[in-house]
This record gives sequence, C-alpha cells and structure tokens, in this order.
Amino acid sequence: MLQFSNSAIKAPRINKTQAKKLEKLNILTIEDLLYHFPSRYDDFSFHKKIDEIGIDEMVTIKGKVIDIKTSTSWKKRMKITEVYIEDETGNIKATWFHFFKPLMYLRKGKYVQFSGKTSIDKKGELHLQHPNFEIIPKSQIKTEEDQVIVLDDEKSKNTNTGTLVPIYPETKGITSFWLRSTIQKTLENCEISEFIPGDILKSQKLENLENSLWNIHFPKKLEESEIAKKRFAFEKMFLLQLKNLQDKKNRDSLAAPEIPFEERFVKNFVKSLPFVLTDAQKKVAWQIIKDLGKNVPMNRLLEGDVGSGKTVVAVIAIISVANGGRQSALLAPTEVLAIQHYEGISKFLSNFNFCQAKKNKKNKCLSFNHAILTASQSKFNGEKISKPKLKKLIEDGEVDFVVGTHAILQKTVKFKNLGLVIIDEQHRFGVNQRAYLQQITQKENGKLTPHLLTMTATPIPRTLSLAVFGNLDLSIIDVMPSGRKKIITKVVNPASREQVYEFVRKEVKGGRQVFVICPLVEESSKITEVKAVTEEQKKLQEKIFPDLKVALLHGKMKPKEKDETMKDFKNKKFDIVVSTSVVEVGVDVPNATIMLIEGAERFGLSQLHQFRGRVGRGEFQSYCFLFTSNNVANSTARLKAMEKTNDGFKIAEEDMKLRGPGQFMGTLQSGVPDIAMESLTDVKTIQKTKMEAERVFVFDPSLKKFPLLKEKIEKLTKDVHWE
Ligand code: ADP
Ligand code: MG
Repeated sequence: MLQFSNSAIKAPRINKTQAKKLEKLNILTIEDLLYHFPSRYDDFSFHKKIDEIGIDEMVTIKGKVIDIKTSTSWKKRMKITEVYIEDETGNIKATWFHFFKPLMYLRKGKYVQFSGKTSIDKKGELHLQHPNFEIIPKSQIKTEEDQVIVLDDEKSKNTNTGTLVPIYPETKGITSFWLRSTIQKTLENCEISEFIPGDILKSQKLENLENSLWNIHFPKKLEESEIAKKRFAFEKMFLLQLKNLQDKKNRDSLAAPEIPFEERFVKNFVKSLPFVLTDAQKKVAWQIIKDLGKNVPMNRLLEGDVGSGKTVVAVIAIISVANGGRQSALLAPTEVLAIQHYEGISKFLSNFNFCQAKKNKKNKCLSFNHAILTASQSKFNGEKISKPKLKKLIEDGEVDFVVGTHAILQKTVKFKNLGLVIIDEQHRFGVNQRAYLQQITQKENGKLTPHLLTMTATPIPRTLSLAVFGNLDLSIIDVMPSGRKKIITKVVNPASREQVYEFVRKEVKGGRQVFVICPLVEESSKITEVKAVTEEQKKLQEKIFPDLKVALLHGKMKPKEKDETMKDFKNKKFDIVVSTSVVEVGVDVPNATIMLIEGAERFGLSQLHQFRGRVGRGEFQSYCFLFTSNNVANSTARLKAMEKTNDGFKIAEEDMKLRGPGQFMGTLQSGVPDIAMESLTDVKTIQKTKMEAERVFVFDPSLKKFPLLKEKIEKLTKDVHWE
C-alpha cells in the first residue's frame, strides 16, 4: 500500500491497483516514488521541421493533427492507430501498434509535439513508431503566415517530448509515461526538506535535495542530472556510514555469550577432515574463534571466492559453539542452497566423533544434533520429522545446529540459547543484518545477542569494503585449495558461435550439463527480460538442440518453481538451463561444465566471475564462453581480463578501476546497478562521506540536533527486506 508519511503532502491520486503494482518496484511511499530514478534519458532536444527529418533520428517535431486512422490487424489482433501531423514544411505519420490510452486525447485540429525515433514502415513511408507526445495548449499557440509558433517554449513543462525524457524501470501497468506525470505532480506539490547538514553540502559542493530531485527526473541538460546523481550518491553513502557508526556503538553495548576455545577439540575435528586446511582457512578460522571468545557480539564478514572453502570454516565455528553448549543457525537465501549446506555440513561431520572428543575432556558423552527446516524439508539428524516436533526440539535446545531459509527461521522458530548465526550469501539480503538478528534474539531466552558471521562469495575490493562495511570485521580467504582445475574461459566472437554449439553438444553427449545466461535487458523491465530469455530457450530447444532437454529459469517464476527447476537440473532431467541474470543461483551442480553467457559485454567483470563460479565444481574440466553481441573492440578487451585470471579479487579490483565503486556498490546492495551510485567514481568520495559522517557523529552521536537526518537513518534500518 502506498503510505503517505507526511500528510501535508498533497498526494498524487494513486488507487489501490496502482499501489499494488508500484509495490513491485519497491515503491511504498511518496519518498520511494521520488527516489525511483530514471535508468536513462532519451534525448529529444533536437527540434526539427518535418522536411528536415531523416531516417533513424531521435527528433522532436511540432504540428497540427490532420488525420487519425484506426484499424485492427486480424492476423495479430492488434489495434493499430495512425496519426498524421503537418507543419508548414510537410506531413508525417506516427504509428502505434497497440492500444495506448492517452491517444484518446488526440483530435483532428489539435496542435501536438511528438518525440520519437524515425524509421521506414512496411509501406516504405517514413514514420515515427510509438512516439511520445504532448498536446500543446491553445493558449500557447499563435499561427502566423502558416507558421506555428509556440509561445513560452522555454518554460515548457513537458516531460515526454522536446527535452531529455526520463526512462524508468517499469513494471506491468506502470509505464515511464505514467511515472513522468506522477512524479512531476508530486514534486510540484510536496514540501521537500533537506536533511544533510548545510555546511556539509557547502563543503562538498553538493546541490540541495529539492533541486537534485528535479534535476535527476527532469534535467534540461545532462550535466544537471550528473550533478544530482553526485548528491544522491553522496547521500546514500553518507547515511550508510552514519548508520555503521551507530551500529558499531550499539554493538559495543550488547552482551554476547563467550564461547571458550578448546584447542584439542577443534584440532580433532580438523584432523578428521579428508583434506588439509589452507593457510587462509586456518587464519580466518582463528579470527572467528577469537571473536567467539569475547563477550561482545561478533559481526564478521567472511569473504572468499566460490569454492574457496568457506563452509568448513563455518563448521569449525558451529562445533565450537556447540561444544560451548549453545545453538547455531545457518540461514541460506533459497531452499536449494539450504539443502546443499545441510548435506555438505553433515558430510563434514560424518568422520568426526563429537561424542568422543567431548568425552575425552569431560568424561561425559554428548551428541551433536543437527537439523534442517525449510518450506519442504524438516529433518533431525538426517531423519524426517514433523515440523512442530522439530521446532519443539529447537526450542528445548536439543538441536545444536539448524540450517534453514531465512524466511522460516525468522518467522516461526524460537531458540533456546542461540550463540551463533551464520548468513550465507549476505549480499542478497542487503547490508543490514543486525536488525534481523535482533528479531531472532527477542525470541530467545536470556539477554545475550548471538555472534554473527556473514559469508559472501562476492569479492569486494578491500578498500571499498573497509569503507562500506565499516561496522563489520573482515576475514578473507584469498587462496584456493590446491589441485583445482582452472576454468577455461574464452571470449567468443559472433562468427564462432556454431563452433561453440558443436562443443556444447559434444560435452552433453559425454554426460555433462550447461548453463546459458541471457543478457541484461537495458530497460531493466522484467517483462522484456522474461521475453528475451523465453525466446532464447525456444531457439535453443527448437532450432539448435532439438535432441536435448532445455529448461527455462527467470525472475518472474515463483520461488518454488525456480527451486523445482534447479532441482530437476541437478538431477539431470535437463541438459541445458537458460536463465536470466536476475536468477542468481549459487547451486552446486558438479556435473555442469559449461557456462555460456550471452551479451557478456553488458555485465560487470565481477558479475561474470560469479556466473563462471557455477561451473568447475566437480571433477571435470569446465569452460566459460563469453558471447558478445557486438564487436566493439574495447568491450572485448575488457572481457579478455576474464580469460587471464580466475582470481575473483583481481577481477574485482579491475572492475572497480574500470567502472568505479558505484557500480559495484549498487549491484552489491540491491542486485541491480543504481543510477545514483554509478556516479560514485572513486574511493576518495567514499572516504569523504566517511569523514563527514564521523564529524557529525563525534559532534552529536544521538543526532538530536539533526532530527531529519535521524529519521532518515532509522528508515534505513527498517528498509531491510527479507524476501
Ligand atoms: P565455498 O567457499 O564456495 O562455500 P565450499 O565450502 O563449498 O566453498 O568448498 C568447496 C569444496 O572444496 C568443497 O567440496 C569442500 O569440501 C572443498 N574444500 C574445502 N576446503 C578444502 C581444502 N583445504 N582442501 C581441499 N578441498 C577443500
Ligand atoms: Mg558456499
């Protein structure tokens, strides 16, 4: 539902259905609406006379409507509307191939402004397809010797034509057209108060909030939008820094259970493993063990590339906590990942006699009880058990360690004495887990806050993570276990496509499986993305690999459907799975050996590296093919970095150098790049926000003097969504 946090705001008229649709874009409040920034702008500032227009031009023209024809194409059951306009130099047609409600306002004799791209239609005529338009009010028109003169052009409030036109991330029923007028009306009617202290704006040379909002939505020139973006990037980072500082202060005032380190116990476990720990694993395990022994809650981020062996480090923490008589919980973002973790961890524990280790020390035999709880699974020590029974066991403290999806563990489970929470793939939850943790704690007996370990496979450049995750301690696994096969990566030019398909066929015949990732769709609309991936799947299934089984995976599918498809893929019911980039599955399919990425030049290197990490998990030699949709030399050069190295941290540093930390940050936090964050171009800017935040914090830690700022940061805390 749309909430109006400030009743003084004259809200735009938004009905229930629209509000529901807006929710899909994460727009719940007026503020969210105003912070729904364009993903790009169409430049329609070139005004031309009709006889000056050529093909494939982005133009704006003014004229009088002289004819409107509608017809229905029976073949495709489409309603076609053709509108002819003329100026003193000639006439031109605009065509719509679907029903577009605002067309109702077009009448013969009205003066209009059209902005769009010209092309040649089927009949060979020059036309504008689906142009934006605005009706020019009578009061602004003067005709003089056949010339149409529009008065007041300078002050025009047009947002759809004649200027830079914002293109927004859309969803079904919420078009850029609708957003433009709604955002414009809202901006006109609401009172916008600045919350960044004035002296900071001044010293950082930033534009104020109101101007920035106008300029990011409706810039007259691109530079205006750039200046606005700079402010929003600063703002976001500044709030985050302040929040980090508060968080850290809060944490130091909380008490955590102290978990004593028992060297012999841990050593016994390590000895029971089928491999030797890498030095990096030893180092981070030791950092974690030391944290667990303190009486303030650990808040540590464990970073390590896919396959670097984070799980076993987590297990060392888990058994230590169990040995100290407390429970641990591991939260995974999806059910498949939860199951994968449960199986993996059970395997690690299978050679370790917890009871024995314990007995040696205290001469009393204790067992280590593990469980999994997800939407479809509920097991205790590997055996099926009813959910209520399992929950009771957890509440009674009989379960030492439980794996689950965060949704389940958050909402319905009470713990007896939780000592440690581990969150896997933390970047998918946003940066603020603390709020979540406190929700669990409330259900727990006692006043102790559990230790928190978050794990991520996204290598974040060190400079960046220190600045951004200032409230976290960092542990990095930067060495891979020895003996790993390197994934062979190739940038493929369009001409060699057939060869790669031949190779794919050969691998599948040999029993292997394949991932295909479809390119990012520029408009970032889910609908177009789903369409693209569906078409790709169809093409591969029908034209290229009719003899193979090709599955489809995209963000519009229900979580359960997605899980099912991945499970089926894992069980070899499919040979190939075609997926959109939004479906990030960290799922282990050791049998998959080929990762094929379409439109690779559209992705960041780090993201490509993440995709690549999905193969090479088994004993077989694996491959990553990067298809480019154009032959642009410099994008190919950038991709070549992927051929050279498999080291995620090196790639991340390279990525940051090429695209700036903003890209990185935006993607990290929300999964999609954020236009405001893109303008964070150097680590220095981040450091500046840190410095300014520290200045404010030292001066006024409770932000009493900055009530608006305080409110903003509180909102940031609430904003974490757990889907
Ligand atoms: P990730 O960091 O991606 O979560 P995992 O913990 O799943 O990686 O480990 C990947 C694989 O490497 C697992 O099969 C694990 O058993 C194995 N592994 C972990 N540590 C080592 C090691 N030191 N030597 C050899 N294999 C290891
Ligand atoms: Mg993992």
